[in-house]
Amino acid sequence: MNHDNKESTGKNNDKVPINRIIPVSTVDGPGARTAVFVQGCNLVCEFCHNPETQAIEGHNLPRKTAAEVFEEIRPNLPFIRGITVSGGECALYPRFLTALFTLAKAEGLTTLMDTNGSIDLSGFSELMKVIDGVMLDIKAWDPEVFYRLTGKKATGALPVNLHYLASTGKLEEIRLVCQENWVDIETALNKVAEKIPRYYGKIPLKLIAFRSHGVTGKMKKAASPGPDRMEAYKKIAEELGYERIIVK
Ligand code: SF4
Repeated sequence: MNHDNKESTGKNNDKVPINRIIPVSTVDGPGARTAVFVQGCNLVCEFCHNPETQAIEGHNLPRKTAAEVFEEIRPNLPFIRGITVSGGECALYPRFLTALFTLAKAEGLTTLMDTNGSIDLSGFSELMKVIDGVMLDIKAWDPEVFYRLTGKKATGALPVNLHYLASTGKLEEIRLVCQENWVDIETALNKVAEKIPRYYGKIPLKLIAFRSHGVTGKMKKAASPGPDRMEAYKKIAEELGYERIIVK
């Protein structure tokens, strides 16, 4: 298992399983970007839209180094402003990310990662030097709600990441999938505000309506919140002082 949590600088030859690469995406951060989806996740969320990306072992996907992945990205350079790495959970592979983002920076690209927040990023100082922003998914806040939703115990890394990323200017976006029976939406909004009181108002908050498309877990028959319900969540967030709310 390639849980390469130790840091290293610059180049490395770790081979990471790659699920897919979207050459030009406009939904994975600002502007046109190449989106790289690594294989393997440390959670098993009931609302996962891409459950095929969860398995860390037992798949036949190619393993690639950062240099190999970047050579696949290179033809897209005239068309993109940056790259985003998602998953699965890309924070399982920090050395790969550091190497890939170092190559991207050398070409003037912006670099983003999308993470579930369960791995402490504050220990990855080399990665943080070459990353522009982190899109942080809040799955749930209360430990019991988190466990029921994700199948794993909360690691305690989420509040650490919130504070570390906000205080270093790297918190690009906070995301929360909204489904009233499975996610403690109001608690999560309150707790985020409480943990990063100086920052949360100005950080984009994306409230995403749960949709069952692609879901194979216990939530495959869970109801999607309608526009009125999403508007109510937005109002709660506004009253708490969030200023940059996107409802999706
Ligand atoms: S963290 Fe993301 S990829 Fe992993 S199981 Fe949850 S929704 Fe799926």
